[in-house]
Amino acid sequence: MSKRNLTILLANPRGFCAGVERAIEIVERAIEKYGPPVYVRHEIVHNRYVVEALQDKGAVFVEELDEVPDGVPVIFSAHGVPKVVPAEAERRKLLYVDATCPLVSKVHREAERHHRDGRQIVLIGHAGHPEVIGTMGQLPEGSIVLVESADQAESLEVEDPKRLAYITQTTLSVDDTVGIIEVLQRRFPKISGPKKEDICYATTNRQSAVKAIAERCDALLVVGAPNSSNSARLVEVARKLGCERAMLVQRAADVDWSALADIDVLGITAGASAPEVLVEEVIAACREHFDVGIEEVTVTSEDVVFKLPRMLTAPAAA
Ligand code: SF4
Repeated sequence: MSKRNLTILLANPRGFCAGVERAIEIVERAIEKYGPPVYVRHEIVHNRYVVEALQDKGAVFVEELDEVPDGVPVIFSAHGVPKVVPAEAERRKLLYVDATCPLVSKVHREAERHHRDGRQIVLIGHAGHPEVIGTMGQLPEGSIVLVESADQAESLEVEDPKRLAYITQTTLSVDDTVGIIEVLQRRFPKISGPKKEDICYATTNRQSAVKAIAERCDALLVVGAPNSSNSARLVEVARKLGCERAMLVQRAADVDWSALADIDVLGITAGASAPEVLVEEVIAACREHFDVGIEEVTVTSEDVVFKLPRMLTAPAAA
């Protein structure tokens, strides 16, 4: 029986960002340099496939520092950590490598600057996300107040509207965040903020690429993990543009083929922590069900590369 034709619109950019590439390389280099096991506090990036591949090489993932035995190296994840974590590692004389994405560290420094200047800080982000926990943990409790929605921004009460600043999580919806910032600026005209929100280039570009294809797609698959913030935002962005059948899949085995039985055009993208091999796996699975043609839609190119920590690049002392 002949297969149904399917056009795949492949969003570009998609998948790994520079912060994720760097975090993975930090774990790989640390294993090479110090030998296994190397402990990693939290999933280094939000992707099971990546985590399992690193486990095979000798990484051991734990939730908290007290699960790390004395005398072994430990790595902190790309999402950033509260200040108490490196402080505790130092107290225990653990060798640690911080894989926090430099764009998250930049938000930490902004928060510290506002705090030094006597401003209360509004963090726009999602409660419970490791990046939010890490950012709030840069300053004493109570210095940062979390706002998750425009409604919360409407009812927010602050200490002094003239001494106020906002920062944002790096992986939010660009459009929703603009709406929240507009509320804050209307209610607190003196609020300070970054020139542009802190949403990172990778999040912005992946959302732009989805916007470029969503209206043409009958359905759209976002390859990513359920706990990946930027992947969840890609599903939302597609749905807002009318692509109701936008779905998150971790890999090909998760695809609901019955939901795709009648479609002609399928969009595919991947969150910043999903490796390209999983996108290829989904496309290969599509070929089993359809006669596939692929059109890649590129909205911009990316050339961002972050340096590795010196302790992993410096030659060993003689
Ligand atoms: S999504 Fe953005 S902030 Fe997060 S690791 Fe990637 S580049 Fe860094």
